[in-house]
Amino acid sequence: MRCPYCGHYDSKVIDSRSSDRDRGSAIRRRRSCKSCDGRFTTYERVEKTARMMVIKKDGTRTPFDSEKILGGIQAACGKRPVSEERKLEIVAEIEEQVHREHDREIDSLEIGRRVAMLLRVTDEVAWIRYASEYQSFESIDQVQEAIQELKSTPPPVSGQNDLFPSD
Ligand SMILES: [Zn+2]
Repeated sequence: MRCPYCGHYDSKVIDSRSSDRDRGSAIRRRRSCKSCDGRFTTYERVEKTARMMVIKKDGTRTPFDSEKILGGIQAACGKRPVSEERKLEIVAEIEEQVHREHDREIDSLEIGRRVAMLLRVTDEVAWIRYASEYQSFESIDQVQEAIQELKSTPPPVSGQNDLFPSD
């Protein structure tokens, strides 16, 4: 997204939220230009990302759909204490990564892996559910190993720190 102040092409998303909560059809993003630090707002809708294609496990292609990603995250989170904002932030981060690193298509497993990574630092139960559902794990053993690992080492909590400002 081009900076309206200096024309620089690279910006950082500093805040993401759904601008239409009932339908969740648009994601509003507050951006910061990496060159001049200028702040601006963009709105992203599903139609605009439709050109990116996702290669499914059976080899067929389907348009990239951030709503589907959000749906998967919401299903995995269930009643876990994960804010809607955090879920949208994960979707925004995934979109950002996908469009930054891929031109036209991306493997659905790759998307699943990236979502799982972000869920892992957000909520461990949601992570296990998601990774199981999207078969990021190759076997039950791997699921159990991951659970054992969680029991012995607490995961990082980045992304939740904001909920408890220290001042
Ligand atoms: Zn700029």
